[in-house]
Amino acid sequence: MTSGKIIGWLIFIISAGIAGIILGPKAYALVTRTKCSEVRKYSVNSMDVRFNMNREELLSYIGTAAQNWENAVGMDLFEYDPEGELDFNLVFDERQELSSEIGNLEGDLDSKKENLVPQIEEYERLVAVYKKKAADLNSEILFYNNQGGAPEEKFNEIITRQKELESEAQSLNDLASRLNQSTEDYNVEVGKLNSTVKNFNTTLNYKPEQGIYSEGDQRIEIYFTTDKEELVHTLMHEMGHAIGLDHTEGTSDIMFTYTSEITEPSENDLSELKRVCAENVLLDRYKRNIDYLKQMFVENKTTIAS
Ligand SMILES: [Zn+2]
Repeated sequence: MTSGKIIGWLIFIISAGIAGIILGPKAYALVTRTKCSEVRKYSVNSMDVRFNMNREELLSYIGTAAQNWENAVGMDLFEYDPEGELDFNLVFDERQELSSEIGNLEGDLDSKKENLVPQIEEYERLVAVYKKKAADLNSEILFYNNQGGAPEEKFNEIITRQKELESEAQSLNDLASRLNQSTEDYNVEVGKLNSTVKNFNTTLNYKPEQGIYSEGDQRIEIYFTTDKEELVHTLMHEMGHAIGLDHTEGTSDIMFTYTSEITEPSENDLSELKRVCAENVLLDRYKRNIDYLKQMFVENKTTIAS
């Protein structure tokens, strides 16, 4: 055993003894405490209005995310507390903007399409009626021509119907050009939507994780969401980091580096959770202190030797 280790163990044994004397019966619970026996108290800090979400909605998504982890491990891990140290923030970024833009364009296109389809159907119905009238008139004209001409009254009626059909044809042409213009506008918007989607995908390639957990200030930031499942997934992922979970390799894991719509912990997630839950907080803390002291000891020795 090196001197560093001896010092480490001495510190550990003495401190544990002192803790036992001071805390008495509570000492056992303290010594056996794991990272999972600490319920993380959380609160909502800031929310950008452009997410179009209110505090209650966000809290209900966080509640679902917490529940999904808790059900998997069978213990309480998170609890809402307005003063909670772990705080959630919705931070607006370029991807959210692009995603909203896509949502708006899609909405626009849907309503344009809804308008256009019945107009086109009505146009086609009017054209069919027009064609029927024109065919009837033509066969009537042919009939009278074969007879060497129509009586004057009939002749005048045919001329009137011909004029009516001509003006009908004119208004049908006007309607057709208006519809062509609308279809053209529609296609321009489809093009705009496609380029926004392309832009969005390029941006996503650079930023696969849709949130971040920063351990120093116990802060979770969510940058972007497209739907409820994705948001719950991202919340679960960042809350997983907050408990101490690392990234895992499986594409269907909550702790996989890339975002998905999966909201149930996988086998990989559960074994990562078990690993973290088995870590003893006190031992971990002592281990870190001892490592630090050992480091100091080695550094001092080096200094003395030189
Ligand atoms: Zn992550």
